[in-house]
Parts: sequence; C-alpha cells; structure tokens
Amino acid sequence: MSSILRILRATKELTPFYVGIMLCAILTSASALIAPFVIKGATDTVVAYHNGDQSRGLSVIVWFAVAYLASQLLNTIFNNVGGYLGDVMSQRMRTSLSVRYFDKLLSLPLSYFDEELTGTIISRLNRTITEIARFIQMFSNTMSSMLITTVAVLAISGWYYWPLAVLLIIIFPVYLWLTSRTSVKWQVWETEKNQDIDAASGRFNEVIGQIRVVKSFGQERRELGLFSKLFHRTIGTTQKQSRYWHLMDIYRLAFLNIMFFVLYLIIFVRTIQGFFSIGDMVLLIQLMTMAVAPVTSLSWIVDATQRAIAGSQDYFKVMEHPADPRSLAITAEGEHSQEPEPVKAAPGEEIIRFHNVTFGYEGEEDVLHDIDLSIKRGEKIAFVSESGGGKSTLMALLEGLYDPRTGSVTVDGMDIVGGDLEKLRSQIGMVFQDASLFSGTIAENIAYARPGATEDEIEQAAIKANADKFIRGFKDGYQSVIGERGLKLSGGQKQRIAVARAILKDAPILILDEATSALDTKAERAVQKGLDELMVGRTSLIIAHRLSTISAVDRIVTLRNGKIEEIGSPTELAQSGGIYSELLSLQNSSTKQDKKRL
Ligand code: ADP
Repeated sequence: MSSILRILRATKELTPFYVGIMLCAILTSASALIAPFVIKGATDTVVAYHNGDQSRGLSVIVWFAVAYLASQLLNTIFNNVGGYLGDVMSQRMRTSLSVRYFDKLLSLPLSYFDEELTGTIISRLNRTITEIARFIQMFSNTMSSMLITTVAVLAISGWYYWPLAVLLIIIFPVYLWLTSRTSVKWQVWETEKNQDIDAASGRFNEVIGQIRVVKSFGQERRELGLFSKLFHRTIGTTQKQSRYWHLMDIYRLAFLNIMFFVLYLIIFVRTIQGFFSIGDMVLLIQLMTMAVAPVTSLSWIVDATQRAIAGSQDYFKVMEHPADPRSLAITAEGEHSQEPEPVKAAPGEEIIRFHNVTFGYEGEEDVLHDIDLSIKRGEKIAFVSESGGGKSTLMALLEGLYDPRTGSVTVDGMDIVGGDLEKLRSQIGMVFQDASLFSGTIAENIAYARPGATEDEIEQAAIKANADKFIRGFKDGYQSVIGERGLKLSGGQKQRIAVARAILKDAPILILDEATSALDTKAERAVQKGLDELMVGRTSLIIAHRLSTISAVDRIVTLRNGKIEEIGSPTELAQSGGIYSELLSLQNSSTKQDKKRL
C-alpha cells in the first residue's frame, strides 16, 4: 500500500482532481440517499391516507415525486462530473507516470539495457501504469462514494434499530477476510502470468524488429511456437485463477445471502410487531439493498488494489534503479546545446589518455587490462584485434558509457568519471557499423546531432559526406521520409547520411566503429570519400575490419585478449609479426584467393 501512497505523493499536482472527484462522490452518495427517505415519506402518506388520515393527500405525493426526480437528477449530474474528472485525472496520471518512466529509462546506465529486452520494458510500462491509473480513478470515484454510502447506511439503520447496524458491521470484515484469503493465492498466479506476458512481448518485439533474419532462417514457425507457448501458458494460469476465484465467490456470496436473509427477517418481523412503520420498512429494505453493492464490490476492490500494488512496485523497481549519475536525461527542460566546446589541447598535444584502465561488464570478468595509451590532437589512430578483443569496449569507455574499474580516462584534461558528460558527448562524433537512422525525413536525420541546423548547413554536410547527389535523386530530396514506412535506403546510402550527421556535429574527436565493414567495395569507396572529408582536422579513432581502410593512419594499436599488444605505424607493425601482420597476411591471402577464383 505504501507504494500507492508514493504514487499519490509523486503526482501531487493532481490533488485538485482527487479533491474534486471525492467531493462529487460525496454529493453523488448524498443525493442517492435522499430517494429512500422520499419513498418512505410517500409510503407512510399512502398508508395514512388508506387508514382515514386524508389531511395529506395527492398534492403531498406529487411533492414527494418531484423530490425524488430532483434527487435522481442531482445524482446523475454529480456522478457524471465525477466521472469526467476521473477520466481527465487518469489520463494526466498516465502521462505523468509514463514521462517519468521514459525519463528514468533514458537516464539508466547502458548495463540495464544489456539485461532487459525492449519489448519487456514496454509491456511492463503499459501494464503497470494502466493498473495504477485505473485503481486511482476507481478509488477516488467509486470507492469513496461506496465508503460514504456504507457509513450512511450503517448510521441510519443503527439509528432505527441497532442490531441491524451490528449485523452489517460484521458482514464487512468477514467478507473482506474471505476475499483477501483468496487473493493471496491469486496474486501469485497473477505475477506468474505477468512475467509470461512481459517475456512474450519482449520476444515479440525482437522478432518483429529482426523479421528479416527470422524469415531468412525460416524460423517463423519456431518463433510462433515460442510466442504462443508463453501466451498459452497464461490461459492455464487464468483458468486456475478464475476457477479458484469463482469457487471462493460462491462461499462469499452464500455467507452474504445468509446475513441479508437474517437482516430482512428482522426488518419484517419488527414491522409486523409494530416496531417499524410500513414506511420505515420500505426505507430499511432500500438501505439494505444499497449496502449490498459496497460489500460485493469489496472483491474487485481488493483485486484492483492488489494489481495496483503489484503495478506500483514494478514501477518503483525501475524508478529506483540507480540512474547513471551523469546521464543527460535527468528531467532537464528543453534540448541540450550540442555545440562542441573549444578544445584546450593544441594540435599535436595529448587530447585523450587511457591511464592503466581495467574494465569488465557488470558481474563479469575483466575484458580490458591495464590499458595505457596517449592520443594526440589531430592524430588518426586505428584499433586492431581479433573479434572480441575489446575495441568497442574501449570506445564505450571513451564515450563515458561505462566507468573503468581501475585507472582513468581523460579527454582534453577532463576525467570522464565525475566529469561533465554533456561536454564530453558534444566533443565526440560517431559513425557506427549500423547507421541507426530514425523514421523521419533525411534532413531530420542529418540534423539529429544538431537540431537547430539550417537547411544550408544540412546540405553542406551532405555534400561533404558524398551524399548530396543521391539525396537529390529522390523525388522529395532532403524531405524524403525514411524508416519503417518510408523510403528504403541501401547500406552505403544510410552510412553516408550517418557521415553527414557526424560532419554536421563538427566534433573535434571522431570514433568510426567499423563504419564501412558491412558494405561492398563500391559502396565502401563512396562512404570512405565522405569519411576522409570528415576526418580532416579531427582526432580520429578508427575500428576497422578491413585493414586496407586504415593504411593511411598515423598509428595502429593492436589488442590481444583485452591487452595492448603493440603500438606503431602501419609500416612498422606490418613487419613486426604481431596480430596486425597476422591479420594482414590472412586478408592478403584471402584477397589473392578471391582474385584467383574470379
Ligand atoms: P571487439 O569490439 O574487439 O569485437 P568488444 O569490445 O565488443 O570487442 O568485446 C570485448 C569483450 O567484452 C568480449 O569478450 C565480449 O564478449 C564482451 N562484451 C562486449 N559487450 C558486452 C556487454 N554489453 N556485456 C557483457 N560483455 C560484453
């Protein structure tokens, strides 16, 4: 329950809504309580009339009817105003919780996403927030009106005849006890079911995202099988849940009916005995009917409460996950200025320093050992290793995505741990193997690095990236929409847009992470032209798969099993017998074989 209170505290701005909804609930209940008294008055008048008291005749009855109508109209109005406020409040709450959740996700360290599937994260977000918002809406509207009705019914019936109130009071805790006993077991199944749904959604998202791979491996049936197995398991769980719930419902309702049987019996007997008038009897019967709804609602209230508790606990589990303390997502308003700060280091002076760096991913062994490396401003430096040697990890450390276990990384004199990440990110431009474009226009994609860029700046960047010509070849030019439902670009075209994006960013340090390794020779040449332009005057760190693309760098650093093996110029290392010369001769021999085959 404390987690729900935390939600309420976290959404303090909605307090006027809570108050408004509760006020409407009070007025709805109060107006509903008028009707039984009106009918009691009318009944007593009719009975008196038949018994010879003609002083209060037809005109009084008409007034009773008018009062009844007025109470019902008021009831409808208050009820609907409350409903309207509830809907608006609920949507505001969803929005507020979703935005916070998204903000939190953006601020979490990369290691969180290494462990969680995207679809699972999305499914959990939808489920938890829907359940929390539904509960709060129900609580503030239905539940508070029921609470008021119950208290009023207890007070009025107690005032007429106290044993009625005592019996009613007994019903509530017993019914609640019967319900909550059921729901403990029920909740365990619910958690099981949610885990299956979240896992199925995670897989669903992955499969749709990589539908091409699934199809080319002909794995549609297997994926469907996995997905349907997880979902089918939820049918079994729901069957167990529902069977148990409804069986217990029979017990609960049997108890309830016996109690109401006794209550009605008391009312009828006491009326025959003359203790109650006919009007009193009619009033009390109506009050008893009004009390049934809150009691039977206890079961779904308990159900909704528990779902909301589970939902809010899941919500806070994510919200309490320690954020990356230097994340740029922390609820800052507006966009970050991505203008790179001027570099302090003069050309030829040290700009990047890895100082005895050791690093391992969370809960795993070290993958980088004792990396000591100094890079000068303007230098072009390539990293070579076998796959899994630690090149990408080294770049991730430079970007401040992970902190080293020991040692330090400094960029332009600033230690990345505890440093200004915004400044760091503004100083690094990147081109990855996978161009990672978003759906939107080509211009928007190029401007992703600098949202305020002018059309002319975007075009200049594209010209340098050797992309302008093919972009203009599209019917809508720079405004062509790419992405899921838009234009399909080739690997080389996407990569040239990514290069244009990096050129526009104009950062002094550049990371090229296997930027051309997924391309064929022709596309590679086109992209390389852009990359050469991009690298002019920038400190460039290049991870290359094809060694031919790095023959012009100043130095090569080779890594073996996470350790630096050699550092030297391409000509030096080609002769040294280290990993670079090994890979070089391997690539040369395969190229020769390829040529022979042709
Ligand atoms: P390279 O870029 O040279 O291929 P990586 O830096 O990608 O090498 O990988 C170095 C090592 O770190 C490998 O053993 C790899 O399995 C491991 N590794 C890479 N990324 C992660 C990750 N997100 N979580 C755990 N281990 C990882």
